[in-house]
Amino acid sequence: MSAVAALLRPRSVAIIGASADASKMTGRPVGYLQKYGFTGEIWPVNPRAEAIADLRCYPDVASLPGAPDAAIVLLGPDRAEAAVRDLAARGCQAAIVLASGYGEANEDGARRQQALKEAAGSMRLLGPNTIGLVNLTDRMMLSATGALEVGELPAGRISVVSQSGGILGSLLSRAADRGIGFAKLVSTGNEADLDSSDLIEHLVEDEATDVIAVYMEGLRRPEVFKRAARRAAELGKPIVVYKVGRSDSGARAATSHTGALAGADRVYDALFRQHGVIRAETFTDLLDIPAALASGRRMEGERVAILTSTGGAGTLLADNCGLAGIEVPAPDMDTTQALATLLNEDPAAIGRNPVDVTLAGLRPDLFRGAITALLESPAYDAVVVVIGSSALATPDIVAGAILECQARSTKPILAYVSPHAPHLVRLLNGKGIPAFATPESCASVLRALHRRTLPPAPAPAVADGALLAGLPAGNLNEAESKAIFARFGVPVTREHVAIDAVEAETAARALGGEVVLKILSRAIAHKSDLGGVKVGLTAEQVPGACATMLERLRAAGAPAPEGFLVQERIRGGVEMILGFHRDPQLGPVILLGSGGVAAEVFQDTALRLLPIGRADAEAMVEELKAATLLRGYRGAAPADIPALVDAVMAFAAMAGAAGERLLEAEINPLFVLPEGQGVRAVDGLAVLQ
Ligand code: ADP
Ligand code: MG
Repeated sequence: MSAVAALLRPRSVAIIGASADASKMTGRPVGYLQKYGFTGEIWPVNPRAEAIADLRCYPDVASLPGAPDAAIVLLGPDRAEAAVRDLAARGCQAAIVLASGYGEANEDGARRQQALKEAAGSMRLLGPNTIGLVNLTDRMMLSATGALEVGELPAGRISVVSQSGGILGSLLSRAADRGIGFAKLVSTGNEADLDSSDLIEHLVEDEATDVIAVYMEGLRRPEVFKRAARRAAELGKPIVVYKVGRSDSGARAATSHTGALAGADRVYDALFRQHGVIRAETFTDLLDIPAALASGRRMEGERVAILTSTGGAGTLLADNCGLAGIEVPAPDMDTTQALATLLNEDPAAIGRNPVDVTLAGLRPDLFRGAITALLESPAYDAVVVVIGSSALATPDIVAGAILECQARSTKPILAYVSPHAPHLVRLLNGKGIPAFATPESCASVLRALHRRTLPPAPAPAVADGALLAGLPAGNLNEAESKAIFARFGVPVTREHVAIDAVEAETAARALGGEVVLKILSRAIAHKSDLGGVKVGLTAEQVPGACATMLERLRAAGAPAPEGFLVQERIRGGVEMILGFHRDPQLGPVILLGSGGVAAEVFQDTALRLLPIGRADAEAMVEELKAATLLRGYRGAAPADIPALVDAVMAFAAMAGAAGERLLEAEINPLFVLPEGQGVRAVDGLAVLQ
């Protein structure tokens, strides 16, 4: 039995610092274990009590009758460390430390937390600063949360991992009120040892768990999370995450634009997307989406039928579906005919969606017939039944009809309860019909129900130790940077490095036509800011432009440049930005976006963690608003999207090969030329460690 398994299903539990006073927080855990019918051994430890409840109490850990599978430490931070040391010595598998005043508090606390971890040795720790765990599958509560006081807690197929204890309690009571059941709930608190990824990894394999809901502040070990998410996708067990920290601007000071565009929270978005994890946009979604997924049903497409007996609520729902990108198409001919016959109405009046059955809604047989017709229609992937005020008096009839129809179909069927009727929501959920109190919830749930398949994991990067050998730390200049990119197949401008104005003019003649002259300097990351870019010069104009550039640099006090860069002028095309940076928590990230001067204004970007596969690169392009431009907007020639995808792949391969020394890299702009003409990197920047 693993330590996490021992925590979730212990055969014996020691409760260190248990109180005989049931009204105290320290009196709760024994009470909860008994109340929920724990059948294993409960060993309270308290030198000042003979017995707690009807249980023998032990003076210390050493005198316990055996090594406990799990322990709850209810002592304050001053005494918890000694208890943890004793438990580890006694052979306990895992201990939960509830006390706060550790890493979350201050530096002293952080030191205390480190000492606690060391005292645990090979024994695993949950917490500190946690409210413990609740196992409703086996009815074992290792917690002191007051949320366990609430009436009936139904068991279900959703497990919860929360870094916050308070949120766990909040979910527990909200779910109970809504008739939604849980399997296991664990609060990981400060994560001195076991973290949310450990718990997710364990719960993915739990036979009683079909869906995992996660309240996340941040990930300590993204690699474990990724592995767990892959495994969950393999088993068809969705992970739904609500992550805080979205408002954190996260934009750190960085040399390139990429750092400023890739806020930390957006990198989490990329991580979730790439690993098939569903992100809950609102806190209510964190309960609603798992509740619907727990039915096991999925939508094969995005088309929904709305059946309503109240016009307003149907329209409200249809509107919200539209906003969420869910289609609400009119019924096909056969379905329209079936509904018209059933309801004895004119097909012209009935062939709409929402399907309004105002009067028939009160007659269960017609209501059943209408649901069945919609579920059987090949035009729909799911049905939402709107429950209006008229159903309040007869909730069992509505529930009965839906249940009967549900049993004959594999498509999802949801209920939107329009009036304020918590008892009805509870009743429906309790019977296995996902029911929601707002149209927004229904819409986000429908989005999440759409079946997604995760493309196979892309091949890991192949490192090339020689790539950056001999190059200095800091910024490389444009020519050096682009030379690296070009080695991986990123098409760059034809260009020459010139030492002085004479060489620059010769280079311009060799290139022919109009050229672009740039200052070449490792010290200048943004050349145009210092007048260091001149587009559209003839060879004759080049020497004069060189002189002006040098003059401006001197005036600005900039160090002497390495020389000039003379390059072909690229015309036409869409300007994009292609960047790379390292997220301090999640690792190497690639970014594609609308480029040019306004890149940071529009924030039109797509992010992925490396490595990526071709499907990722294609999806990045599709995610952008600029995709519309690239496809050829209003008569403009479509751009060379396949070449752009190739460039993204080449750039990603370059970043992978470069390894840890490459801190940032950027092409801004990357010109995407008309179809068949490829792309050109006209600028380049690489920052090395
Ligand atoms: P900076 O260091 O200021 O970013 P760039 O090399 O990106 O300098 O040049 C600034 C702008 O000049 C680019 O965004 C692009 O619009 C234009 N430009 C630069 N090089 C070329 C080129 N070879 N052909 C056409 N336009 C160019
Ligand atoms: Mg640039």
